[in-house]
Amino acid sequence: MRIKCYKKITGNIECITGLHIGGSADQIDIGGVDLPIIKHPITAEPYIPGSSLKGRMRSQLEKRLGKVDREPCGCGKTDCLVCKVFGAHMNTRHELGGTRLIVRDAHLSEETRSQYSKIVNEKGVSYLDKKVENIIDRKTGTAKHPRSQERVPSGAKFDLELVLQIYYDVDEENELVAFVKTGLKEVENTYLGGYGSRGCGQVKFNDLKLDGIAITL
Ligand SMILES: [Zn+2]
Repeated sequence: MRIKCYKKITGNIECITGLHIGGSADQIDIGGVDLPIIKHPITAEPYIPGSSLKGRMRSQLEKRLGKVDREPCGCGKTDCLVCKVFGAHMNTRHELGGTRLIVRDAHLSEETRSQYSKIVNEKGVSYLDKKVENIIDRKTGTAKHPRSQERVPSGAKFDLELVLQIYYDVDEENELVAFVKTGLKEVENTYLGGYGSRGCGQVKFNDLKLDGIAITL
């Protein structure tokens, strides 16, 4: 199998509501929040790991295709777009070739970064949103175990870049591009990151381009 070309999708991811993508539990958080978000180890800026976006696209597409199981699809069949595009889960014997889709980590856009550095420099405060999540005791109606949750505030933008590897003979270029676009649309229709059913993680993909040419989802 030989690679024919790369198709690149670029654009930005805009947070319509606060976004929470959890950081590791051993991350020491100076702000003292219970549920910190993932941040770059050096710059301490929030980012969206490629694996988070890819995972959400995959799981929503699997639901669309009725491939709902405990585990992601690992059938490895040549006609399974999920396995071809996202990789055959835990299957080392398939003959699909390499996972076609590469999702880069999405970092803050230059526009958002300069907005935020102004806030930090002029006001000396964090631009991150802290939301307190309560668990309501249904018998007494009182809140218990309040936990502070860190979020990227709505309005933040991250740079998006996806790369699709197209192979000779076995790949239908338009079909793979359309599948990836559907995956992005599914994320817009649902959410990204944690607490999606409780209002977090609504995102919109803007200024999308395929190899530099404007596209819509
Ligand atoms: Zn499959």
